[in-house]
Amino acid sequence: MRQNQGGELKVRDVEKDKTRRVRLKPINREQMVLRPVDVEALVPEDHEVRAIWEFVGRLDLRRYYEDIEVIEGEAGRPALDPRLMISLWIYAYSKGIGSAREVSRLCEYDPAYQWLTGMEPINYHTLSDFRVVHKEALDDLFTEVLGLLSAEGLISLERVMHDGTKVKACAGADTFRREERVRAHLQAARQQVEQMGDPRLAEEVSPRVAKARQRGVREKQQRLEKALEELEKIRACKSSQEEKQEARVSMTDPQARIMKQSDGGYAPSYNVQISTDAKEKMIVGMGVSQSGSDYGELVPAVDRVEANVGQEPEQVVVDGGFTSRENILAMSEREVDLIGSMGTGTSQSAGQMKRRGVDPSFYPEAFHYDGISDTYTCPAGKILRANGEEKRPGRTNYKYRACATDCQRCPFQQKCCPQNGPRSIVRGVDAPEVAAFIAKMETDEGKKIYRQRGPVAEFPNAWIKDKIGLRQFRLRGLVKVGMEVLWAALTYNIKQWIRLCWRPQWA
Ligand code: SF4
Repeated sequence: MRQNQGGELKVRDVEKDKTRRVRLKPINREQMVLRPVDVEALVPEDHEVRAIWEFVGRLDLRRYYEDIEVIEGEAGRPALDPRLMISLWIYAYSKGIGSAREVSRLCEYDPAYQWLTGMEPINYHTLSDFRVVHKEALDDLFTEVLGLLSAEGLISLERVMHDGTKVKACAGADTFRREERVRAHLQAARQQVEQMGDPRLAEEVSPRVAKARQRGVREKQQRLEKALEELEKIRACKSSQEEKQEARVSMTDPQARIMKQSDGGYAPSYNVQISTDAKEKMIVGMGVSQSGSDYGELVPAVDRVEANVGQEPEQVVVDGGFTSRENILAMSEREVDLIGSMGTGTSQSAGQMKRRGVDPSFYPEAFHYDGISDTYTCPAGKILRANGEEKRPGRTNYKYRACATDCQRCPFQQKCCPQNGPRSIVRGVDAPEVAAFIAKMETDEGKKIYRQRGPVAEFPNAWIKDKIGLRQFRLRGLVKVGMEVLWAALTYNIKQWIRLCWRPQWA
């Protein structure tokens, strides 16, 4: 309907509009359509799936081919090309897809997946098995990828930033049980396994369903047996008898551990360790640990980088979670320059003093040390003499003690040593390597390098979580989650290669 300039409808137009019938193109969903598809034209020339295919084609996949039993000239169904399977998984992970069923579905209609497969369907079991059965081959593949990236000048190992991040396990917090419950479930599972062989109890289901059920019960039994093994390991880490008795293990993923998350909460997780070369932010090493703390992860991380790239990093930059005196000594021995944050680490912290009920005016700073006589003088003017020493990695603690009668008669006793007198003081002396590290970290250069840590070290962690969606593992068990991290790291590195080396040719 049209309006004239004054906004009034023309009578003739209204009449015409009433009789007007639009003609639309019909949708016929009853028909069968057969049309040629140019597979090569499914994706444009600069599509990243072509880059992935090209990159994987440069890798030596002999270890994968060795496992293929079907030989040319002999009977048997041809195997799927490992180059295709690797490319499929890398492309899927790059799109944040980690489900074999989803990848299989995408192979049916998504042009990029269809281009890769040549429009052939791929069973999700095949995809799923391929992802986890070639552990050693996948390790080798990662090493080889690093070789190619080094050859392209993308890795220098002059400076490696290392960091850890917690990734949730494929198990809920409510799957953790004490030993009695695990044993009860295991007993029930064993009975089920025994009954499966009894034909009188066989259900009327198809052989395929029966087989799947049998497999499920056997896997459950194995998982519970593993849970009991893991429970012993968890107990070994507990200090008190009470804690040992209270220890729990997940019945879904026995190797997962409850860990503190970045948001302050706790969840069943694994500790993923990633080493990133600072030059182009390439991942040069990764591992998965069951420890909630990072202190013990630095030395294994440097070992992995050396195994992957063939040499140790010249410098490693870490946060305070890794900077222990043991690690400073270990890196010094290996001649790896360690950069990290570290507190001054007084032997008797304010926290300890507070717990003992010591008044702040009687904290160790209030005691005067005389290096010549090797004694301390307390605020009441009494002398504390040397009373033994304790050697620890990277530090020696010298102990000093006041005279018992001095403290008993002292009017400040309740403020100075309210729990057990006489008062003692510990003087910590760092090993030369630790002292040199602390001095280095007080320089502008040390601080400047340390400031670069966050943007480099946390980038791949964030990328893997955000782009690949690896905030929670889809697989269970240390080996399988390790492989999931390996796939993610491979995908990350190949994506960086595409960005830095492959993409510019199309710019
Ligand atoms: S309690 Fe002992 S150490 Fe403390 S101020 Fe008195 S004499 Fe000195």
